[in-house]
Amino acid sequence: MKMLITEEHTNGSKIAYFSMEIGLRDEIPTFSGGLGILAGDTIKSGADLNLPLVAVTLIYHKGYFKQDIDDQGRQIELPAQWEPSEIMHTVPEKTTVIIEGRTVYIQAWVYFVKSPKGGEVPVLFLDTNLQENSEEDRSLTDYLYGGDDNYRIKQEVVLGIGGVKILKILGFQIKKYHMNEGHAAFLTLELLHQLKNNLNDVWDESYIWDFEAVKELCVFTTHTPVEAGHDKFSYDLYRNVIGDYFPENVIHDLAGNDHLNMTLLALNLSNDVNGVAKKHGEVSQNMFPGYKINSITNGVHSYTWTCDSFKKLFDKHIPGWANEPELFVRTDLIPPDEIWNAHSEAKKILIDYVNSTNNLKMDHETLTIGFARRFATYKRASLLFNDIERLEGIASGKIQVIFAGKAHPKDEGGKKLIEDIFAYSENLKGKIKIAFVNNYNMETAMKIVSGVDVWLNNPIRPLEASGTSGMKAAHNGVLNFSVLDGWWIEGHIEGDTGWSIGPESTETVPDDNANKIDTDDLYNKLEQIIIPTFYQNRDKWVKMMKSAIGKNAYFFNTHRMMLRYVTEAYI
Ligand SMILES: *Cc1c(COP(=O)(O)O)cnc(C)c1O
Repeated sequence: MKMLITEEHTNGSKIAYFSMEIGLRDEIPTFSGGLGILAGDTIKSGADLNLPLVAVTLIYHKGYFKQDIDDQGRQIELPAQWEPSEIMHTVPEKTTVIIEGRTVYIQAWVYFVKSPKGGEVPVLFLDTNLQENSEEDRSLTDYLYGGDDNYRIKQEVVLGIGGVKILKILGFQIKKYHMNEGHAAFLTLELLHQLKNNLNDVWDESYIWDFEAVKELCVFTTHTPVEAGHDKFSYDLYRNVIGDYFPENVIHDLAGNDHLNMTLLALNLSNDVNGVAKKHGEVSQNMFPGYKINSITNGVHSYTWTCDSFKKLFDKHIPGWANEPELFVRTDLIPPDEIWNAHSEAKKILIDYVNSTNNLKMDHETLTIGFARRFATYKRASLLFNDIERLEGIASGKIQVIFAGKAHPKDEGGKKLIEDIFAYSENLKGKIKIAFVNNYNMETAMKIVSGVDVWLNNPIRPLEASGTSGMKAAHNGVLNFSVLDGWWIEGHIEGDTGWSIGPESTETVPDDNANKIDTDDLYNKLEQIIIPTFYQNRDKWVKMMKSAIGKNAYFFNTHRMMLRYVTEAYI
């Protein structure tokens, strides 16, 4: 059945949600990690809550990449080629942007995210792979986070400028533009243009751009406290790619004098700016004094991130939970043995899956620790192995560990960490079983976050803006064991919802001594609390599982998050 964009979709004023990556399902491989999954979960909750939302991203014909790993732990990147026409269709209308003086045509694919509640959110995937375009321009929507600055700035022109134009051509009336990270900030320039055109003004040196009107239209969410995480382009590149479209002296005032900083551009042209957890809001406020930065803590889409056995359990005891996660407040009603059985079912699925991919023969009874996320160095994937002898002494025969995650193809440090994990696994053979699951994606994430007993997270404070995989774990009664950073500062109650690693978060920049302090605390708690509780005090463990659901899943979901965006930023 062919679904078209109809007046039902465009009527009324909408929120346009722009994101460089959107992760809705594995068959649409246009995401790399947490940012994309968050965007997907946001849209799904938007549909469930019947919000007037439309989303914009790029199509990426070759996706991010598919990960394979050789037996030394070296990452092999395979193309994630896919066929959009099997999943979505194009709309007939086209728009254009000017890149390096050429007219580049853009068409959109549309995919409808439909909620069982009746809501429906169109997601536009912009595509430049059209006959009208040169070979070079046709490749602009091939790779997510591939290529150099030149490739990236052009993609951001397509996303920001092309996105605003195509929404207009399709008849959407937009009352707010939500930039999910700075990648989409060029949309502000197109909005400034459209206001100018509306007024029939002549554009000369004396023209006064209507910044206030654009600020009123824009909402900006910043996602990283890591300096390198903010896109910056040289003005040479800007001049070459964007040229006369927007005067350089004006953009200097908006995006910085030395470099074009996309975060600054977004900050200067948005009335509502937020970080993604309370701590991240504060850290961002420090990075950008002079701007008012709020925080709206991230969440995950509860239905998407709850495994089948827990879905069944929640349906039985707290019906309606998926569209009203506040009902998790009643988790204590669920009998403990049913919680444990649902967990054992999820654990069996994971362990059997892992055993089918290697010959480690993990078992169903051993305390299983999971660590899966992008292999960025600040996430310290190998912290658990800092003192191998001590780990052996504490945990031989008592734990097994499952890792997964992709390193960005250009991140040699991240790739090295995967090799390190393989080396440690070899080293600990016969003592601690360590598995690495290839090609981390939504499906493997679901298995791992629901099937382990403990979810380990040990980034360098304060570099984890929010983190969301721990929220997924909590939805499945999996206990978080995490550094106090991002969302966990808000979700953590020691010995109740999980455990902390290391001191309270007071840093605004990383502390060089943290590695040692965190490692000591990790080992101490593993030895003295986590291993004994798991094997000797199952009642206490299950009580904590209930707290994770009743206190963490209850709050850290995208339904709550979206209601906050509606009341604090959209209206
Ligand atoms: C949830 C998720 C992430 C984000 O994990 P963090 O721990 O928040 O970094 C990344 N990749 C996939 C596939 C996910 O499902």
